[in-house]
Order: sequence, then C-alpha cells, then structure tokens
Amino acid sequence: MGMTITEKILARHAGKARVAPGENVWVNVDILMTHDVCGPGTIGIFNEQFGAGAKVWDPDRVVIIPDHYIFTADAICHRNIQTLRDFVKAQGIRYYYDPDFVKGDGMPSPYRDPSQTRYKGVCHKALPEEGHVRPGEILLGTDSHTCTAGALGQFATGVGNTDAAFVLGTGKTWLKVPATMKFVFHGHIPPYLSAKDLILAVIGRISVSGATYRSLYFTGEGIASLTLEDRMTLTNMAIEAGGKNGVCDVDEKTLRYVRSRSTRDDWEVVEEDDDASYHSVHEWDLGAMEPLVAKPHSPDNTAAARECADVKLDRAYVGSCTGGKITDMIFVASLLAGREVKIPTFVVPGSTEVHADMLRLNVRGQEKAAGEKSIWETLEAAGCQMGASSCAACLGGPKDTFGRLNEPINCISTTNRNFPGRMGHKQAGVFLASPLTVAASALTGHVTDPREFVTKPIATGEAGTV
Ligand code: SF4
Repeated sequence: MGMTITEKILARHAGKARVAPGENVWVNVDILMTHDVCGPGTIGIFNEQFGAGAKVWDPDRVVIIPDHYIFTADAICHRNIQTLRDFVKAQGIRYYYDPDFVKGDGMPSPYRDPSQTRYKGVCHKALPEEGHVRPGEILLGTDSHTCTAGALGQFATGVGNTDAAFVLGTGKTWLKVPATMKFVFHGHIPPYLSAKDLILAVIGRISVSGATYRSLYFTGEGIASLTLEDRMTLTNMAIEAGGKNGVCDVDEKTLRYVRSRSTRDDWEVVEEDDDASYHSVHEWDLGAMEPLVAKPHSPDNTAAARECADVKLDRAYVGSCTGGKITDMIFVASLLAGREVKIPTFVVPGSTEVHADMLRLNVRGQEKAAGEKSIWETLEAAGCQMGASSCAACLGGPKDTFGRLNEPINCISTTNRNFPGRMGHKQAGVFLASPLTVAASALTGHVTDPREFVTKPIATGEAGTV
C-alpha cells in the first residue's frame, strides 16, 4: 500500500519507512514561525519551561513575522512588537521582519517605500516570498492558517503557544498522522472562477467540521491549471473545514518559485503514490461550477453568488492571506479599471512585496509603461481606500484598525472567516467571496456574480510566479 504526500513527509521526518493514519510520531521540524499575537506568549512559555538563559534549537529555523496588530495606536500591541525584538536580539534569530516604524507611541506612520523595508506584512504570504517554504518539509506556525504553505507541497499546520514553545527548545513535535481526504478537480479553471470558489464548494459540501484532523489533498488538472498563488487560497482554507493541513502536488510552477526564493537547497519533492489510500474522495467538474459566496456567519453557509443578488452591501474588503496576493489584486483591478465602486471598498496588500508590485505593474501583470496606470493607481481611480500591508481588518483588531467593521453592516470580503465578530462588530454580516465576486459586488453595491463583468480570461503575466 502506498502513502500520501502528508504520510510520506511525516514518515521521513520521524525517521521511519512508513506511517499510517492514527499513528503518533515524533518528527523533526524544519521551520517554526510565529508572529506578534502569539509570539510573546510562546516566548513566555519557552522562558518558563526551558529557563531564562535557554537558547532556541536553531536560530536559523525560527522565523518571526509581525503582521496582525501593526497599524494601531494600541500600546499593548506595540509592547508585543518590543517583546519580539528583545527575543530576536537575545537569541540571534536571523529571519525577523521588523516593523521599524512602530516606535511605541501613537499610530505608526506606514513604511515610506514598500520595496525598501524589512517589514513584510501577512506571515503566510511572507513565508514563501522570503524563501522559508519548501516541498517535503515540515512548517509549524502559531497561526491556524499556516496550512497555506501546503500549496507548495509541504506539511504545514498551526500549533498553539505551548507546542510552539516546545519546538523552540527542541526542534521536535509529536503529531498524530492524519487520514487524507482527496479532492479532485477536473477541467480548466474558467475566467470567472478562482480558487476561493473551489474551496467554498469543498467546505459547503463537507461542512466546517467535515475534515476535522484530516489532511486535504487537492489534485487533478483543475488544480494544475491554477496559479501557485491561487493554490495557496485553497490550502489556506483547509482549516475552515477543520483540516490538519492542506496539500497540493508539486509541479513546474512550484519548483520555479521555490528555486528562485529558497534560503536553503537541502529539500526534496515528495509525491503522492498512485495506490495511496484515502478517507474519502470528492470530485468536481470546473466547467459545471459557478461563483459562490459564504453567507454570515460560517464558511460552510454557501450559496451561488447569483442567488444572493438581493443582498445589499455596505462595504467591500480586499486583502488577507487568502485574498491579498498580487494575482488577487490583478483580478480586482481588471474589473474596476475605468469604473467606480458604489460602496466603500478597502484594499490591503498581503505583503510589502505585493504593495511594491501593485505600484510597479499594470492590470495585466506587466511592468507598466510610462503614462500607464499601475494596479494601485487603477484601484485608487476607481475610488478604493488603500491601506498598508498587514492583517488589518481580516480579524477585526483594535478599533482603529484600517477597514475594521465598527458598525453592524454587511461586507463582502476576500478573507477566509466570517464567524460573528471576526472583522469587528458582532452584528456585522461578512460574505466571503473570490476577488472577482468582491470586485463585481463593489461595482453594484449588492452581491454580484462576476460573470456580469468577466467576459474573457484575465491575464496575470509573470506576477507572483517567481
Ligand atoms: S490575514 Fe487574516 S487569516 Fe491571514 S494571518 Fe492575518 S488575521 Fe490570520
């Protein structure tokens, strides 16, 4: 009997020839990531359990990316950043992406030039950009959407502060091998769909608990036809179905990106065996699928966008690790180009690299020519309110957070979670949708099927590919 990608990675990291679902194994961890929300708690537990003078197991395998509560005047949030700085200095941690504009008093001014700052923004976007995600490896992070990195053929999952503190001290963790659910997508991605529609279809079918402690393996020619960035949207939301991890096959798109970014070269691609066994197999034909939304207040409360045309919206939001990538921005800008939004529309780049690319590229993902509008300028001209890179309103945050829902309003959003209060006010209604559906809805003020605006394939050029 063969093994799945997830089983093979866990077996290799446990020093075993094979593992089976349900088995508990000790594994060596390749990278541990933490951020400004969970980092201070993890550091506190590490100091308490390993002793004040203890050193982390490998300072080059600990990656710290502040991203959540950056643009706020909240003093506790600033103190968290200082805790990270002190730890990084004491431990000699190499991969730390400091928001050096956070000085500890009042609302920080954003970075002046996104291409000239060490600060990155959303950790799950920054991890692959900065070369910390590689096929066949194990990445743990103190954030539930750490599963995003599975799009690049690795085992990536979120852990709590206690587990993370143990990894900090030992480089090891104890894992139960998850059973794998296989999701096969046939056909080629049509221009009006994106990976968000695919993952909403999955969660709508199996529910928010339908993959609890299982691996979600996404495969088929439909997945191969997605950009690498779009695959990250799929694996990002594996956790919204309760999954332990999400994973995709490694192909030329993956290898091209990883080879141009990785900080190491000692990694190996792991492939699914033809005779691997699965908990269950689910199939879709992309040609028969249509744009979806997840209505308040759960990612499995799905409906076709066209069925929700009577839902009046007060706001649109584009950003987060799910919908703040450069190709997401191109999707949105290509619909908004030459038009004006009807409702307040907030745009937040997922990283400073995305921000820099939005200034550099046109809506086709090419270097903009003299006199041509950039993606950023296109969105501004359409009336969008543009923010600096961070998690921003994706998880609400302090009241002064850019784009936060401070009133009980309806918002359509490219983010990944819509439980009550997730983006701020507990009575606000959040509709999760693809960047195309969010852009179409921003133009009309009600939930809108993007097929009303998308008539041909949207070119994204080389954006996000290397
Ligand atoms: S963008 Fe949202 S989902 Fe992603 S890491 Fe930040 S808060 Fe979490």
